[in-house]
Amino acid sequence: MAEVLVLAEQTADGEVKKVTVELLTAARRLGSPSVVWTGPGAGAARGRLAEFGAQKVYVADSADFADYPVAPAAELLAQLVAEVSPAAVLVAGTTDGKEIAGRLAVKTNSGVLTDAVSITEGDGGPGAEQPNFGGAITAHTRVTKGTPIIAVRPNAISAEPAAGAAELVPVQFAASDAAKAATVTERAVAEKGERPDLAEAQIVVSGGRGTGSADGFKIIEELADALGAAVGASRAVTDAGWYPHQFQVGQTGKTVSPQLYMAVGISGAIQHRAGMQTSKTIIAINKDPEAPIFELADLGIVGDLFTVVPQLLDEVGKRKQL
Ligand SMILES: Cc1cc2nc3c(=O)[nH]c(=O)nc-3n(C[C@H](O)[C@H](O)[C@H](O)COP(=O)(O)OP(=O)(O)OC[C@H]3O[C@@H](n4cnc5c(N)ncnc54)[C@H](O)[C@@H]3O)c2cc1C
Repeated sequence: MAEVLVLAEQTADGEVKKVTVELLTAARRLGSPSVVWTGPGAGAARGRLAEFGAQKVYVADSADFADYPVAPAAELLAQLVAEVSPAAVLVAGTTDGKEIAGRLAVKTNSGVLTDAVSITEGDGGPGAEQPNFGGAITAHTRVTKGTPIIAVRPNAISAEPAAGAAELVPVQFAASDAAKAATVTERAVAEKGERPDLAEAQIVVSGGRGTGSADGFKIIEELADALGAAVGASRAVTDAGWYPHQFQVGQTGKTVSPQLYMAVGISGAIQHRAGMQTSKTIIAINKDPEAPIFELADLGIVGDLFTVVPQLLDEVGKRKQL
């Protein structure tokens, strides 16, 4: 069975990011998954990679990946593509992942698909489903040249365990001078609260202009904390300065695809939908029964959020005590 290369993403602490095990699940549909691990820490990560079906883990334990952004990872993948002729290369559809995919496509003269929400296997080889035009159209796409390189959105594929050998295979790698054209001058780890990362969260609670003010928006944080969710916001909220821009969901913000997305006091403009409509279940709370968000919602609650959310908090509180 042909190998499928999966570029591992790691947290600042060197742990395997959830998107990596999602990619492994997708890779199993196409062939035998081989993880590509950059830098130290592969030994500690091996167990988790094995749990999700990695048969091999190519380990390039070089400082180049920490010292130079993105380019060395693309070079390493190009080296492995030449060596093992994989059926496909899967990377996370993150900012870094998409840049690596583009660079790798140029280096290997291959086609690249980004923003995939599903991986398909057909007669013509691996393909993808890509939402376009803010999700109004889903394109079914396939690479027709070279090695298919696919960047998959975090949270789009449910990770399913399957045992793998995760054999560690050391790889000799040294980045070229061209890959060292930009240098990492400093790393500052973002202060992380108790809440999950917005892009990786299973539940996202987002608030919109309906919250009325920065103070009103606090109810969104309260609901998110009660549900163990990440907080998101519409652009109306971030533009007004009620909540920081990094939490904006939508076309010009983050794209999320959680199991549950709650849109509270959000109208559902096309630009907002572009960032959340592949969520598995969508619940909307809005006082306007004509709000476009209800066209998308699996469950809609028509009402004032300042009446509905406190009742929800009560219910969640009661269930936690059971
Ligand atoms: C190029 C471009 C890019 C953009 N990118 C983004 C993006 O990335 N993300 C994004 O979100 N937007 C984006 N926008 C903006 C987008 O078009 C909308 O203006 C924005 O999403 C509206 O935010 P909102 O739904 O919070 O506000 P509104 O559209 O004002 O909706 C507020 C909603 O709250 C409801 N409401 C009010 N009070 C209450 C209450 N007490 N209880 C319950 N419901 C209540 C109202 O009925 C209404 O439906 C972009 C726009 C452009 C032009």
